[in-house]
Amino acid sequence: MTGDPELITRCLELCAHAEAHEGEARSAALSALRDTLEALRRSTQEPDRSPREHGAYARILAQLREPIITMDLAGYVTGWNRSAERLLGYTPEEAIGQHILFLYAEDEEASDVPELFLEQGSSYMEVRRRKKSGEVFWAGLSLSLIRDDDGEPVGIAGHLSEITDRISAEEMLRLHTRIIEDSDQCIMITDAQDRIVSVNAAFSRVTGYNREEALGMTPDLLRSGVHDEGFRGMVHAAMHGAGPWQGEIIGRRKDGSLFPQSVSIGTVRNDKGEVTHAFSIFTDISADKEAAEQFDRLVNYDNLTGLPNRRLLNQLLTQAISSSVRRKGNGGLIVIDLNRFTSINEGLGPHAGDELLRQVAQRLRRVLRDADVLARTGADEFVALVEVEKREHCGVVADKLLTTLHPPFSIETHEIYVTACAGIAVFPEDASSAATLLQVADVTMKRCRQLGESGYLFYSPEMNHRAKEHLKLENDLRKALGNGSAAPPQLSLYYQPKVSLRTGRIVGAEALLRWTHPEQGPISPARFVPLAEETGLILELGAWVLEDACRQIRAWRAQGLSPPPIAVNLSARQFDRELPARISEVLERHGVSSEELKLELTESLLMGGAENVIPVMNELVAMGFSLALDDFGTGFSSLSYLRRYPISTLKIDRSFVEGIPREADDCAIARAIVTMGQQLHQEIVAEGVETVEQMNFLRELGCDQLQGYLFSPPVTAAEFSDFVQGDRRLTLDD
Ligand code: C2E
Ligand code: MG
Ligand code: MG
Repeated sequence: MTGDPELITRCLELCAHAEAHEGEARSAALSALRDTLEALRRSTQEPDRSPREHGAYARILAQLREPIITMDLAGYVTGWNRSAERLLGYTPEEAIGQHILFLYAEDEEASDVPELFLEQGSSYMEVRRRKKSGEVFWAGLSLSLIRDDDGEPVGIAGHLSEITDRISAEEMLRLHTRIIEDSDQCIMITDAQDRIVSVNAAFSRVTGYNREEALGMTPDLLRSGVHDEGFRGMVHAAMHGAGPWQGEIIGRRKDGSLFPQSVSIGTVRNDKGEVTHAFSIFTDISADKEAAEQFDRLVNYDNLTGLPNRRLLNQLLTQAISSSVRRKGNGGLIVIDLNRFTSINEGLGPHAGDELLRQVAQRLRRVLRDADVLARTGADEFVALVEVEKREHCGVVADKLLTTLHPPFSIETHEIYVTACAGIAVFPEDASSAATLLQVADVTMKRCRQLGESGYLFYSPEMNHRAKEHLKLENDLRKALGNGSAAPPQLSLYYQPKVSLRTGRIVGAEALLRWTHPEQGPISPARFVPLAEETGLILELGAWVLEDACRQIRAWRAQGLSPPPIAVNLSARQFDRELPARISEVLERHGVSSEELKLELTESLLMGGAENVIPVMNELVAMGFSLALDDFGTGFSSLSYLRRYPISTLKIDRSFVEGIPREADDCAIARAIVTMGQQLHQEIVAEGVETVEQMNFLRELGCDQLQGYLFSPPVTAAEFSDFVQGDRRLTLDD
């Protein structure tokens, strides 16, 4: 490419001047730039590069690489760009206002602005200059006059380049072009219509599009689809003059692959201040990203076990604390420290020690849920961060973590037994900052260690008490289940009759579990059933209930009684694919048929996912069972939802019955449930009916059956058989 070197230099200088000034001075420079560009266009022999490109090139050089200094005619610095700062070491604040002499090397004389220069308007020379660091260097200096509107000289633009050899002005021009062409930064210039008018070699190398493919297209050529409207709007605005913009954009290469780019966007304006061109200078930073990920791995994770380290734990803990405050939920921090790890490590060597830590990490991790965090925070110290519904559940988790370490570890040829101590802090109660919480849990772990070999301790005494209670109840329940013949049975079933609202006769009964604790006396199922569900004991408990109900049915039959169907409550946890097989085994063993039993399910089961639940339900129905939905109205069931399940009975929850007939809302809900049930041809049972008013209201609504203290509380098997034998009836007054 050729072009009048003087004009090019002048363009550069005018760009720099426009950049360095505002208002009129800027307009003057821009107007002069337009004329110069026009002149340049005429002098340019290569037709495929528009003069605008030269202008844009000039801007890019001024911004990126070429140091530009402007001064007034007396030699005082008026403008100083970033490249000048980079080359010479002085900031604009330090340089502007100083006489240009401050850059001269000692051995040079200052000179007045030469006549010839004033006449010709530009010159090129080689000079020695001194940097702020004191280093003296050879510079190629292109000087151009800055003139005002009347053509009067008002200042000088100096364009410095560090040189080792003499470079002619022509060579300089070629150099400028080469700098852009050969730059390892990708450069793309667009016009006001967003059409690409120029790209360099790096652009083609990185994006895969050559010059011909790119020219005339819009920057959407590189659009990845990753960024949202708002982000793209911001980039677009920058390309249309909203101001320089720097950031990261994900682009798409010609081969479809995505790559992160670090981008600077700037614009070139005409004399009216309108944006005529925009340039994007970008680099492919995918390699940096990989490096960043590797850096992240190194900084945030433990090398040996791959678990998060203390640093990452701190961050996650801070997030967990604030989210628990938002959700009004609880979380726990469990610090686990292995006992005697040092002696194991010393005895077997560091290799074995490392292997043990890896295996410990694996076992601990497996106990936790996916959402829980397990970190390694010290040689033999691990920390679990868990979200819990109730604070005492942290004790259950700690217990699981400690128990999973019980089986021996096989390391090389050894069998190693490991025990540990755990300290628990719960948040937000115990502390509300990550650092304090960790400290508190740590102190608690150490206190636990002083107390004995292994186990866990909560930080707060109240929590320790609660956790102990919880644990004791669980153990006692376990004993109650397992205590066989020797001790008096603690578990029993009571039966609460259901009566027909048409005939007043007993048409069924619900079997309800009773636990008589040896010390505490009767404990409500409302208290121990949720505990059993948490710990999984509900499976054994449920099996016992089913067994005992069947045994009772057979016993009644043996007495010559024909009992109505007996309903048994099933927990959601019992509801798996093996349930039908388990039930039918018990039924067969006792010679009981499926018509003699009913199964009560809760709405929470339906929330567990229809695809797992419906096949099991269908199987049960096919076996002859009828299914009832308990506590209806307290969950989320809707009419359309309900239709998908083979349920034949709805039990209106006691909480709605309670408000009848006073509370309008409760009445409305009861009415809606009855209407809904009738449409689905379901039988409706009202639970917890205590008064005649309630009964009458429900009867009028069209409710089929009633269960409640009005007729009878849950009673023993013997009492229930008396009811049936005596044909005890509900009085319906009409
Ligand atoms: P549920 O299945 O809704 O049982 C009805 C509860 O309402 C029973 O409480 C019963 O005694 C009580 N109730 C009945 N009529 C009235 C009344 O007129 N007024 C009042 N205030 N209450 C009445 P219970 O026996 O304490 O059982 C509570 C819950 O424990 C049961 O609610 C059930 O969800 C669960 N449960 C009981 N036994 C078992 C069982 O064997 N297995 C399972 N999975 N859960 C059971
Ligand atoms: Mg029930
Ligand atoms: Mg109920």
